[in-house]
Amino acid sequence: MSDAFKGYRGKALSVLKEFGVRVWSDASIQTTRGEFKGIILPRSENDDDQHLVLKLNTGYNIGIDIKTITGMKEVNYREAHYKIPEKEFPFSEEKPNVKLFGTGGTIESRLDYRTGAVIPAFSPGELYGAVPELADICNLKTEKLFAVFSENMGPQQYITLAKAIGEEIKNGIHGIVIGHGTDTMHHTAGALAFMVQNPPVPVVMVGSQRSSDRPSSDAALNLIHAATAAATSDIAEVMVCMFGPTSDEYGLLHRGTRVRKMHSSYRSTFRTIGDIPLATVTCEGVKPLKEDYNKRRHDRKANVFPFFEERVSLVYYYPNMHPDIIDALVDNGYKGIVIAGTGLGHVNKPVYPAIERAVRKGVAIYMTVQTLWGYVHMFVYDTGRDLMDKGVIPAENMLPEVAYVKLGWALGQTDDLDCVKEIMLTPVNGEITEREPYNGYLVYQGGIPEIEEFLKRVHK
Ligand code: ASP
Repeated sequence: MSDAFKGYRGKALSVLKEFGVRVWSDASIQTTRGEFKGIILPRSENDDDQHLVLKLNTGYNIGIDIKTITGMKEVNYREAHYKIPEKEFPFSEEKPNVKLFGTGGTIESRLDYRTGAVIPAFSPGELYGAVPELADICNLKTEKLFAVFSENMGPQQYITLAKAIGEEIKNGIHGIVIGHGTDTMHHTAGALAFMVQNPPVPVVMVGSQRSSDRPSSDAALNLIHAATAAATSDIAEVMVCMFGPTSDEYGLLHRGTRVRKMHSSYRSTFRTIGDIPLATVTCEGVKPLKEDYNKRRHDRKANVFPFFEERVSLVYYYPNMHPDIIDALVDNGYKGIVIAGTGLGHVNKPVYPAIERAVRKGVAIYMTVQTLWGYVHMFVYDTGRDLMDKGVIPAENMLPEVAYVKLGWALGQTDDLDCVKEIMLTPVNGEITEREPYNGYLVYQGGIPEIEEFLKRVHK
């Protein structure tokens, strides 16, 4: 498609062509809701064909429904001003080599935080143009594996990623960064932690909560932090690197099996659950907060286990859930079910017969807790004991999403339910821990300034 209509397709493309208005032009658009003036921005390939995107003079981007457009005029054309400068990414013998895999999400579709434009940027040259600090950190190579929002990630993508990481490790890379949408980054992090075990180098997942056309964007800083961690950190694990506090003081590195997106819009959305984060990261480098981590090595050994059984489900229990939810999964050939139960790991009595039937039919059922923090304890109440009698297996303090990807991964290797149980209950990388640190719940969450502020307000 020509650059004049970059990213537009279908009906939206026809409207632009009909009025002869190009992407990057200053346009005035008449609609049934009034007149709008601004710059027509390109769209990413994931977007619909029903809207034009206009950057208003206030800096805000708005979508204009093409059905409301009655007329449109190109007032000025200013492509050069908004283009990300493509510069050749410099190479230096002394710098570590880092590979950036792209999977999609906000971080990759909008990276030009300097010019304020919304642009899909991904080649090393474009990244360098948008975030030149990257060249001070490493020699960067990029590869776009997918271009999807993260709700579209799944087992096939996990497997492709795991294999690609394995190849890079064999080729002697010093660190890996994975750009990913934030919404399901913790699922992918868990899956990769099981599929790529004992990596000799850091594997750092990164995303952004705010698009880079907003002044408060976290895209560039997260990317700088992730590249720093991949290039220099001694922690060689699958990790997530995102804002620590809501301010830009430092980023946090979270273990891939203990991390979760916890806020729909805060930049500090990722929190380590049931433990403390692995490290803080600034432009100066990485400072570990824990000692028990997998250390960087200089070999090229990649232990890649790229398996996944897709017929596994995660069921979030709610009061009065009917047994047919479980029956439907069994009747559709599901081989494993993870339940996120209430409290210490409970569901209501009417669901029992469905669970019994599922177990009889050879479905593996694991229990996790909706509280996220804490352990499944099924010996405390009758409910827990009854469920265990019926064959439900407590998944310790595995997070529900992590237990889900682990069960998919385990059933991808074997149908033998004893083996599956052994795999499920043997920790690979911190998904099951002996105890939660007493101070993890509140203190080490990268929110210390916020906690101080909160306390000051409360204890007036
Ligand atoms: N919806 C987006 C995604 O998860 C949000 C983001 O990139 O942060 O792909």
